[in-house]
Amino acid sequence: MFPPAVDLALSLALSVVPALLFLGLYRGLERLRDDDLVNRWLDGPTGRLNERTPTPEPSDSGAVRCHRCGTVNPPYAAYCARCLDQL
Ligand SMILES: [Zn+2]
Repeated sequence: MFPPAVDLALSLALSVVPALLFLGLYRGLERLRDDDLVNRWLDGPTGRLNERTPTPEPSDSGAVRCHRCGTVNPPYAAYCARCLDQL
């Protein structure tokens, strides 16, 4: 149906293009994984994965310090934000 040169080019394209698309997807996912925004999102409001997040100092507002890991939790917390131990 096609001349041999076109047939060869088509079969080459059909074998190379999916591999390139997969590599692009892989690189994109790697870039997403290392993205700062994703890291900040993973850290979340509890800062469980981010050791740089400053923990609030306990005050007389009823903050509860975890007896297991020492993290200061808000007074309404039933479980520790870091180790999930019951307060
Ligand atoms: Zn804890």
